[in-house]
Amino acid sequence: MTVGDYIELLADVGGKPGIDCRGFCSYCYFKKVKDFVPFGCRFCSPLSEGCDYCGRAIAETYPGFKPFLRVAQDVLATLKMSPKDPEKITISGGGDVSCYPHLIELAELLSSLQVPIHLGYTSGKGFDSRDAAETLVGLNVREVSFTVFATDPALRKRYMADPSPEASLECLSTFCASCDVYAAAVIIPGINDGDVLRRTCNDLEEQGARGLILMRFANQAKEGLILGNAPIMRDIESQSIESFKELVSTINDDYKLRVTGTPLWDPTIGSPFYISTNPGAYLPKTSKRATVITGAVAGPYLRSIFKRVAPNVNVVNTEKEIACLITLDDIQKLKLEDMEETVIIPGRAMVHDKAVADVLRADGVYRIVRRGPEQLTVDGEMSIGLNCDEVLKSEVDGFTELLRTIEAVGT
Ligand code: SF4
Repeated sequence: MTVGDYIELLADVGGKPGIDCRGFCSYCYFKKVKDFVPFGCRFCSPLSEGCDYCGRAIAETYPGFKPFLRVAQDVLATLKMSPKDPEKITISGGGDVSCYPHLIELAELLSSLQVPIHLGYTSGKGFDSRDAAETLVGLNVREVSFTVFATDPALRKRYMADPSPEASLECLSTFCASCDVYAAAVIIPGINDGDVLRRTCNDLEEQGARGLILMRFANQAKEGLILGNAPIMRDIESQSIESFKELVSTINDDYKLRVTGTPLWDPTIGSPFYISTNPGAYLPKTSKRATVITGAVAGPYLRSIFKRVAPNVNVVNTEKEIACLITLDDIQKLKLEDMEETVIIPGRAMVHDKAVADVLRADGVYRIVRRGPEQLTVDGEMSIGLNCDEVLKSEVDGFTELLRTIEAVGT
């Protein structure tokens, strides 16, 4: 992966959620996923609906962990093709890297490249003693993304199916002492919010974690569960986006940790859509007419930004909260009389181009349908490692591309 001039290498160990992480966490988004019909997506061929991405990869359905040799070969092949030496190597997968049986071997191999290693999204459930973390730190692991859920071992045992919660938490504290640790917690109302969350934040702060990503628990299809598996937890009421945003701000105010939330909010930067409060940031203007379809969270932000630079663009949002998870049934629920003759859909919407065009022309009006850029902003999971300028640059790039598309194909 290249981020500007920065090169990051990925060591993908594969693995299946729930299977290659010692059993499903109660809140896992991949729980209860059965066979599903591919959605169609930006990677599909124009003629056929369904590809490896929208039919398999989005559900992280790897057959299992990859053999060590295969991971090593893949890394070395990518390294050979890389224009320059990587600055970081991330070990990640569909399962949990702490459960990868060859993790230490892999870290040994990668440490010979003398590049800092990042453990991407581990729950720590595979660590049975503090020794594992000590060994990994000795092998140049310098950054860890650790799903903590709560620092209460009993809660980890019950809600994360963690067989050795004390050892996992000891590893977390060992990592905190020597690495940049970004902890994460899916917040389940009534389970790990309130006092439990405060104790978790106290512990993380005391141990020296760099940041905490709070994740709003999605329990309904409109909140992003598109794999037919809602609700994941019965009897749990979802938290509204507004109340979640407030929680993120409060925790950020009360602790020294850098706190962000997903699907929103980064109180330090003011993102997503930091650009909406930066009227000075340059964006090209257009007077063309077009409709931009987006998700419920982005809708109000986009309306305020377009008012300034593209007053003839109307923004229509779906009931689905996240634009990247819009599926065809979300588009089918929209009113065609609200659509201009040019319609831009989110770049990552989970729909096939032809199917969405058919729906948007069902009233006999021939509408030009285009995909917008892959992203218009960054969410808290990404922004926790960025500064204001980096977020603003990413948003300016996204909006510039979108406005140019509207200028080119709008009416
Ligand atoms: S560790 Fe992650 S992938 Fe595995 S069950 Fe828990 S949430 Fe799902």
